[in-house]
Amino acid sequence: MKTAIATVSISGNLREKLAAIAKAGFDGIEIFEQDFIADTGSPREIGKMIRDHGLEIMLFQPFRDFEGLPEAMRRKAFDRAERKFDLMQELGTDLVLVCSNVSPHALGGIDRAADDFRELGDRAAKRGLRVGFEALAWGRHINDHRDAWEVVRRADHANIGLIVDSFHTLARKIDPETIRRIPGDKIFFVQLADAPLIDMDLLYWSRHFRNMPGEGDLNLLGFMRAVTATGYDGPLSLEIFNDQFRGGSPTGLARDGHRSLVYLMDRVKRAEPDLSLDLPEIPDRMTVEGVEFIEFTSQGEEADKLAEMLRVMGFRHVGNHKSKKVALWRQGNINIVINTETTGFARSAYLTHGTGVCDIGLKVSDAGKTAQRAEALGATLFEQAVGPGELTIPAIRSVGGSVMHFIDEASGLSKVWEVEFEPLEKDLDAVDAGLVRVDHIAETMDYDEMLSWSLFYTAIFNMEKSPMVDVIDPDGLVHSQAVEAADGRFRMTLNGAETHRTLAGHFLADSFGSAVQHIAFAAEDIFASARAMAGLGFQALPMPQNYYDDLAARFEIAPDLLDRMKELQILYDEDENGAFFQYYSRPYGDGLFFEIIQRRKGYSGYGAPNAPFRISAQKRLMRQKGMPKL
Ligand code: MG
Ligand code: MG
Repeated sequence: MKTAIATVSISGNLREKLAAIAKAGFDGIEIFEQDFIADTGSPREIGKMIRDHGLEIMLFQPFRDFEGLPEAMRRKAFDRAERKFDLMQELGTDLVLVCSNVSPHALGGIDRAADDFRELGDRAAKRGLRVGFEALAWGRHINDHRDAWEVVRRADHANIGLIVDSFHTLARKIDPETIRRIPGDKIFFVQLADAPLIDMDLLYWSRHFRNMPGEGDLNLLGFMRAVTATGYDGPLSLEIFNDQFRGGSPTGLARDGHRSLVYLMDRVKRAEPDLSLDLPEIPDRMTVEGVEFIEFTSQGEEADKLAEMLRVMGFRHVGNHKSKKVALWRQGNINIVINTETTGFARSAYLTHGTGVCDIGLKVSDAGKTAQRAEALGATLFEQAVGPGELTIPAIRSVGGSVMHFIDEASGLSKVWEVEFEPLEKDLDAVDAGLVRVDHIAETMDYDEMLSWSLFYTAIFNMEKSPMVDVIDPDGLVHSQAVEAADGRFRMTLNGAETHRTLAGHFLADSFGSAVQHIAFAAEDIFASARAMAGLGFQALPMPQNYYDDLAARFEIAPDLLDRMKELQILYDEDENGAFFQYYSRPYGDGLFFEIIQRRKGYSGYGAPNAPFRISAQKRLMRQKGMPKL
């Protein structure tokens, strides 16, 4: 598989783009005229610079408004084409994209267009060049790949072929299966872009909202299955126009782009086994069976405060690492680790972000294969020196730079607690609060990074994303999206902040980058847990009386149940399946907090309708503590 990306897809100047594209592992690029008009090098120098990056120029674009013009304009169009051909030869590329005519002067007529392309093919052939025709979804007469194919078929010229673009086909809801009937050798180039389903003008949608395959809602898998079935084995190229991406990091975008192509083709290979695609064998998406541990990095008093927070939630300090300053706290199936080392990754994470989650351990069936898949999808493996007798646990860097470990039973990694930790004397009086497992981990990030995160989780793990919801902070909007493993055994919520005035944005600014903002633990009986925790000195986030008055108006809740909820500051929600109870801790430090939840009868959400009230209550407390920014 040869991969390419249109230079317009990522941010930066041409030189920054090329460096990022080469680093991500692409074989080549589609070059846009705008890219080198802005550069000071001559086309010949730019062509050389691209090749010096190890990249091939696989396509030059665009050449617009060519076919089906009245005679006077037609002559001029051929003159324009000759000038583009000159430029292509200087750059060093042999394929140009002609997109279908949008001019009001275009006359239409399949044979007229085919005649134009036949003549263009003759001119291109003299120079050893090729021409690909693409139907724009908003083309004046040709706006469907089936019609573009008919033009190419009737042009019947070796140097004229078709270019298909997933956006143009799928945005117009054209069945991608129709591509299967096109001969693969007449498809000269394939462009890929996904997009979120939004009902809007096609041109505007295309120019502003395209995203990487797998980041949107279009049927890219169906499209590529059909393309692959034709026998096409040319480049797969990303052509993404996206407002957010224009301001993003070129390296991150190029990495996401390459990841999206590897992931898509891995899916195609699995869905079309009879095509015997020549692609590297990589392990399938891994099912996450749960959270094995959550590791905090901290120091001194902050670490003591965090330990106290765990204590009042019913956790017990059950062991210490044999050679490192790492404490293990446990309750139910939840392992929390507090790392206060003064060297290594946890230390550097502390210096950059302060006290917070620096590492998450996921339970999987095969830890080695999980790391192998992640690496094939462009993740960086993480390695740190291992002491004598310690286990080597496969790990990667996740999107924000924190670490993710993979733990399985089969290779004995789940024994890490016995192998590496010294148990502490059991405190027989210690009270457990009935928390049984991690329900979800909420990561806060810049809104612009959300797609990177969801692609990371869905490409590596057997996880699906749910629709994005808007969470209303009194000072702005936070976008929230859940990614979940089958059976809800692992759930992440991704919260994208756009302004520092929201609680999430404030946290983001204070933690210098994306970070876990809250962890939700599941209780078997939330009322019993709330009472047990109160007995240990836990202070729940106080909710106002108005909240409970509103609940009584919105839901049928028995008065005594409502009274108990009010007494324990428990919030409520329900969906078509069942009921949901939750309460929160008060914020720790810059806004990290804990949540206790109970899902009844398959409630599948996260209490989003309660978020504005929770955020207001948290801000009230933080303002009292003198945080003027809020
Ligand atoms: Mg295109
Ligand atoms: Mg939550």
